[in-house]
Amino acid sequence: MTRNAPSAFVYALSMELTFLGAAGEVTGSSYLLKVGSSRVLVDCGMFQGSPEAARKNWRPLAFDPRTLDAVVLTHAHIDHSGRLPILTNDGYRRRVYTTPPTVALCDILLKDAARLQAQEVERLNRHRERRRGKDGLTPLFDERDVGELLRRMSVVRYDQPVNVAPGVTIRFRDAGHILGSGMVEAVCQEGGRTITVLFSGDLGERGMPLMRDPERPTKADVVIMESTYGDRDHKSLGVSKNELRDAINDAVNCRGMILIPAFAVGRTQTLIYELNELLQAGEIKPLPVFIDSPMGVAATRLYETHRELFDEAALAYLSQGCNPLRFPTLKLVTSADESRALNGVPGPAIIIAGAGMCNGGRIMHHLRHHLYKDTTHVIIPGFQAEGTLGRRLVNGEKIVRIFGEPVMVKAKIHTIGGLSAHAGQTTLLDWFAGVAPSKPALYLTHGENGPRAALAAKVNERFGVKATLPMLGDTVSL
Ligand SMILES: [Zn+2]
Repeated sequence: MTRNAPSAFVYALSMELTFLGAAGEVTGSSYLLKVGSSRVLVDCGMFQGSPEAARKNWRPLAFDPRTLDAVVLTHAHIDHSGRLPILTNDGYRRRVYTTPPTVALCDILLKDAARLQAQEVERLNRHRERRRGKDGLTPLFDERDVGELLRRMSVVRYDQPVNVAPGVTIRFRDAGHILGSGMVEAVCQEGGRTITVLFSGDLGERGMPLMRDPERPTKADVVIMESTYGDRDHKSLGVSKNELRDAINDAVNCRGMILIPAFAVGRTQTLIYELNELLQAGEIKPLPVFIDSPMGVAATRLYETHRELFDEAALAYLSQGCNPLRFPTLKLVTSADESRALNGVPGPAIIIAGAGMCNGGRIMHHLRHHLYKDTTHVIIPGFQAEGTLGRRLVNGEKIVRIFGEPVMVKAKIHTIGGLSAHAGQTTLLDWFAGVAPSKPALYLTHGENGPRAALAAKVNERFGVKATLPMLGDTVSL
């Protein structure tokens, strides 16, 4: 090997990708893209769900944040953005590229995450002090780190190419998942080679309220694709809406409470939209609907300020002078006192509150207060990770623990898959059909092993493309 001739070995390693989360599971999304000497991080999400998953957040980062050239963020959900403030805490001082609504949503979600961290660490430290004296934990990050992160954010509109590091130009395209969500097309140039690496981010389902359908790129050399629902389709939106209507009418008949755990961003707004339509069509009687979530309320207001991103149906509502996210019996609850006062509200009424997987937040109080009553209806509209209370309810457990105490489950539990903000198997396959003719290398992530293996089999059968199922920490040459 002479000094000047590039060796095959060096050439092969000149572009590579490391999977730092959401590899064989749904949460913790993070990828390190190396192109020559450039290092670009795509997403840096929290691991969520079981205590074992949460423990991964405390592991040291697999890289020194000060060596990164840029960070790119697909969307604001905590399982994609939640560890970003650790980067600023550890000295990252370059830019974070994302869409304008994502910046605003991160402001809401990450400041809340910082407060939750502080509370959780305080609780753990009290526990540890009782057991073995003072050796306190410190939070992974605080509100100052979040503030520093927000100052590093550079807004990028959909379809606007931006050179984020030498040899790496990115472009966001509408992923149709939540407000501001994007897939990332990264055009990478190194040693005379140019390849397009496409990160799907989280893909939305087609035909969902408010959001436009995900765009379908037609060319990529490498595709990193989510597989949350790789093994199944959701029920249709129409069927789910009927189920929502029937569950509500059931609860109205027995004057029960209807509890709906929902993510503050995305699911909450979809629910408001659907309830509005049911009310307008006279399919349910007017009843109080409480959005008991400061974040859900803030996110709903933010959706209202980004009407330019709505789909045609929502724009048609607006053109008739109607706001699809407001109706007369909708009450927005922000203060803790107002939230506590909901305990005294007689049914029938609907309470929509976080956390979406019943692993914290105000929904826990409402569940503790109402799960033991047979007049209560719990409507689960989204994915419930292993180890969460939501998953136990879906699995039909008859006694669950809330705040350390056993609670009998007499409430009726409904799961309504059609309101998911994630693409089902058919939409995932149709999305991949756009890029399949370019025979890309395909990596399936953001899915438990069952669903992603099922999707891999379908992709192979339909397109003759063999997918790789990477594990945490794997590095591949591009
Ligand atoms: Zn998401």
